[in-house]
Amino acid sequence: MHDLITSPFQGDHLVLRPGSPKGLKIPRVKFVQLKAAVSGGEAIPAWLADAVNRSWGIDLTGRCAAGTVLVREPGPYEFSRATWEINLGCDYDCVMCYLGEKRFEGLDMTGKRRLLEVMAAAGVIWLQMTGGEPLIDPDFPGAYRFAHELGMQVEVLSNGSRLHKDHVLALLVELPPSKMSLSVYGATADTYDTVTGNRGAFERFTAGLEKAASAGLHLDLSLIITRQNAHEAEAMRAWAKRLALPFREYANLSPTIHGTAEPLPSQSPEHLTHRAPFTGCPAGVTFFHADPFGRASICKVGRRPNIDLIAEGVEGLARLGGIAGSLMLRTGGCTGCQLSDSCRVCRPMAKVFQEAKAPLHHYCQHGMREATR
Ligand code: SF4
Ligand code: SF4
Repeated sequence: MHDLITSPFQGDHLVLRPGSPKGLKIPRVKFVQLKAAVSGGEAIPAWLADAVNRSWGIDLTGRCAAGTVLVREPGPYEFSRATWEINLGCDYDCVMCYLGEKRFEGLDMTGKRRLLEVMAAAGVIWLQMTGGEPLIDPDFPGAYRFAHELGMQVEVLSNGSRLHKDHVLALLVELPPSKMSLSVYGATADTYDTVTGNRGAFERFTAGLEKAASAGLHLDLSLIITRQNAHEAEAMRAWAKRLALPFREYANLSPTIHGTAEPLPSQSPEHLTHRAPFTGCPAGVTFFHADPFGRASICKVGRRPNIDLIAEGVEGLARLGGIAGSLMLRTGGCTGCQLSDSCRVCRPMAKVFQEAKAPLHHYCQHGMREATR
């Protein structure tokens, strides 16, 4: 496998090291020089060997550029990021899950490889593999390895339930993810197992977390705060700090992707925070989402309309920008809203809250004003 990736990116050119969150920006002239060194079978340029040594502490001096550096070609659009639910199946049954019914279904391995090839051709450099729980998919190792071979930097979003298994950890150590984001559902076995609906889950998670941290993976914790574990929020923060791991908190629950309300009773009222006003987002323009069947949508929330990437290939993505524009219009339950300029949620998010008949103060300024009167 290559040691470095070089790729055009939004008018610049980057050098990346698989599995490292760091990157180097290089001028176009050096990108062209590097590309020529690869195609001509020359040694990697001295300036690159120096820069790589300074950034990553590895010595590639004199190494043949071909085989050491993978050159990515620019995609036809502006896409550089994608998320992919390899499968919606999960070994947990969390009370607040936004996926609703989680069916274990999707593309076979041939389809998965085709989808990844389309993503690479579209210019995707940073790929987030998620689920469901991605590590329980039997095709995960093959798909993960193939994404690396195509020169993508892969982040894995996981509940961490399988990290304690040696063969799972061995793959992640051999080909490190650029980031491994792990959800945390409690600080004690009682609470964690209640939230996840899975007895013994806390013990397995704790064992896996310790192994992954000791192995030096780039871990990032997502503390999921719900009504059921809110009393352990401080203990969850303390746990992350003790492990010296970066963490973020997610306390605002959403309806399911099907627009149903099951997660909402788990909202912790005292942790419901007001988001900053929505000022736009690059969904459908610089990133897209793919579901287990290879259907591309603007993001995980605005799932329809979507584009069948297996049938249409990379050309299908040409329509996604137009879909994004139409999904952002303040239509439906937001039609004519005088507060839309300072709204705190995008239209796709407002739509799922409205379909779920969620309490207005969870997302909409009309309800927030009422709640503070
Ligand atoms: S949910 Fe809204 S803000 Fe988030 S990515 Fe989708 S469109 Fe953008
Ligand atoms: S404030 Fe409420 S009604 Fe207005 S745009 Fe936002 S979600 Fe829609």
